[in-house]
Amino acid sequence: MLGAFGFITDLTPIVEAQRAVAESERELRGVLDDLQDTYYRTDQNGIVVRASKSVVRLLGYAPDEMIGRRLSDFYCSEAERDDFLARMRANGGHIVGGESRLRHKDGHEMWVLTNAHFMRDAAGNVIGVEGTTRDNTERRNAEQELRLAARVLEDSGEAIMITDPHAIVLKVNQAFTRITGYAAGEVIGRNARLLSSGRQNAAFYAGMWRSIKETGYWRGEIWNRRRNGELFPEWLGISSVRDTAGEITHFVGIFTDISERKATEAKIAFLAHHDPLTGLPNRLLLKDRMEQAMAHAERSKRKVALLFVDLDRFKAVNDSFGHPVGDTLLRDAAQRLMGCVRDSDTISRHGGDEFLVILTDLQNPDVPAQVAAKIMAVLGERFHIDAHEANISASIGIAVYPDDGDDFDVLLKKADTAMYHAKAAGRNAFRFYTERMNSDVQERLDLHNALRRAIGQGEFVLHYQPLVDLARGRIVGGEALVRWASPELGLQLPSNFIGAAEHSGLIVPLGEWVLQEACRELANWHEGGRRELTMAVNVSSIQFRRGDVEDTVLRALAASGAQPGALELELTESILIDGAEQVLATIRRLQALGVGLAIDDFGTGYSSLAYLKRFAADKLKIDQSFVRGIADDPNDAAIVRALIELAHSLGLKVVAEGVETEAVLNELRRMGCDMVQGFHFSQPLPAADFRRLIGLD
Ligand code: C2E
Ligand code: MG
Ligand code: MG
Repeated sequence: MLGAFGFITDLTPIVEAQRAVAESERELRGVLDDLQDTYYRTDQNGIVVRASKSVVRLLGYAPDEMIGRRLSDFYCSEAERDDFLARMRANGGHIVGGESRLRHKDGHEMWVLTNAHFMRDAAGNVIGVEGTTRDNTERRNAEQELRLAARVLEDSGEAIMITDPHAIVLKVNQAFTRITGYAAGEVIGRNARLLSSGRQNAAFYAGMWRSIKETGYWRGEIWNRRRNGELFPEWLGISSVRDTAGEITHFVGIFTDISERKATEAKIAFLAHHDPLTGLPNRLLLKDRMEQAMAHAERSKRKVALLFVDLDRFKAVNDSFGHPVGDTLLRDAAQRLMGCVRDSDTISRHGGDEFLVILTDLQNPDVPAQVAAKIMAVLGERFHIDAHEANISASIGIAVYPDDGDDFDVLLKKADTAMYHAKAAGRNAFRFYTERMNSDVQERLDLHNALRRAIGQGEFVLHYQPLVDLARGRIVGGEALVRWASPELGLQLPSNFIGAAEHSGLIVPLGEWVLQEACRELANWHEGGRRELTMAVNVSSIQFRRGDVEDTVLRALAASGAQPGALELELTESILIDGAEQVLATIRRLQALGVGLAIDDFGTGYSSLAYLKRFAADKLKIDQSFVRGIADDPNDAAIVRALIELAHSLGLKVVAEGVETEAVLNELRRMGCDMVQGFHFSQPLPAADFRRLIGLD
């Protein structure tokens, strides 16, 4: 039997060799299986022929599960595998640390790093791939996170500073440089203290560090110093970073520059409580202070006075010299007011030319009057503003806590009422509030209600007073004067109700009725044949301010068919001074229609030449208070003569009001006055009587 295999004479070397191979195989397997990395090999078709044990840890497959399968099955995609091979080929047949994505047995994707090469036979043909692979997912994720973190750090709009545990700066970002002015190279390696402004004291920092040590962070507002020395407020958050042993390794500070926000906040807070023009507290803050003062006074049994200060003739200054000068005057006035009170008192601008003053902690009841007198004195001194000089005065009303009330709004109203009385008494005066004033207010209120009813019931009538041309001795027109035919009070003259009608705004509907009625009567005169007659109608400043005078006039003309050229509006100077540009524009439009314009009661108001020129009036009506005396009083005569000359030089016709005697008439004729009006010719007459006077009916 053995002879049949004669050439096999001794099997020992073969067995030895086989044993050696098996031994080396076992050794190799042992080495491979001990490897942390996974060893694998494929044949030339990409079929796995070998995989070390650790592949279970890597991919979840046992080596046996892998052998015989295509290696590409374990890649995330065929393309991924092709790409890997392509990279290997391009690199001369091997790759070190090549990244690729595999799919774990449980389906999740993972990043691996592979060292691999093509295996070749003696002729150089590729007979397979061999390599080792390790999981790189965690490291890759960590790297990505780091890259992201670095990116966030750099791009953050907030300044970021990272220091070591001793506050030595390790890293800063661009926003840090932008905000502080320090380039990274200038701060890295230095103590973060270089930013400190010195504004916070040691206790502040101690508290901050305590919080960081105890809670791991601190947040708050802090002032720091920029490279250029400028201090700025920042909103800062500091966190500590600890290692696994719990030791602090870093501090991370993140801050934003809040100087703009702070400035805006401060401005808003200031504006909410102050008047922007004078910088004085506004009503809101004043009310707060008043309430505090009252609460304090209640405990100390002392008093608090509220002074309502209104500047007289301020509007004239504003209008003659312009708003900038007016504004400066208000600021100067505020300054002067401050010199009149103690630091603990409060002065506030109430709007326009009104100021409120709180005098606190009053022991002496004379103090409010003394302060009021002082205020009148300082405000009465001439103001020098740029090249201008202005004189004003002040009217002051005083209400006292607790005598007049214990509520701010009540006291304010009472001080206002008292001020109103000071003004009514001729201005440049002060008044304490009295109950009597309150009953005046009540009377005014009753009057308002009565007037409202009267307008609804049509209780008003117009009387007409002739306007006489001096040279020709003829009636050339009439002035419409309103009367209230009250069933209870009898026929009321304007002095009894025009003020209340203006105060309540009722003058607007009343004035509209007057215009309608006067235009209708004017049309009657013209239809009766007296086409040369004009009709003068008085218009109040309130109608200009609150009503639409232009529209009202147009409606009255349209409804009556009266000619615009025969209608003349009588305005007082105060209208011109109160309203300025807007009024001027309205008046110009009416004048363009042919409506005439007369300045009434000239001499009693501001008597401003500038206004006369600007408003291009047609007539000047000299107030009766001057006219009355011209026959006996040389002063009045001089004034009237000058006024007539002045008016003529401006191309205005002059009407003298209140001519009651022949003597006055003769004097006016000598002075060259154009027209007259007065009891010497006729009282204001009901419509029918006036018509008879001019020969109609
Ligand atoms: P005014 O426009 O200056 O009117 C002239 C005032 O002088 C009239 O008083 C008239 O009766 C009075 N008067 C005329 N001649 C003489 C005289 O020889 N001696 C004296 N002592 N007085 C004379 P009245 O009617 O009481 O009107 C007073 C003021 O009321 C008017 O002054 C005018 O400003 C205003 N008023 C009258 N009607 C209206 C109106 O319809 N609307 C407006 N807004 N105000 C009016
Ligand atoms: Mg008049
Ligand atoms: Mg008048």
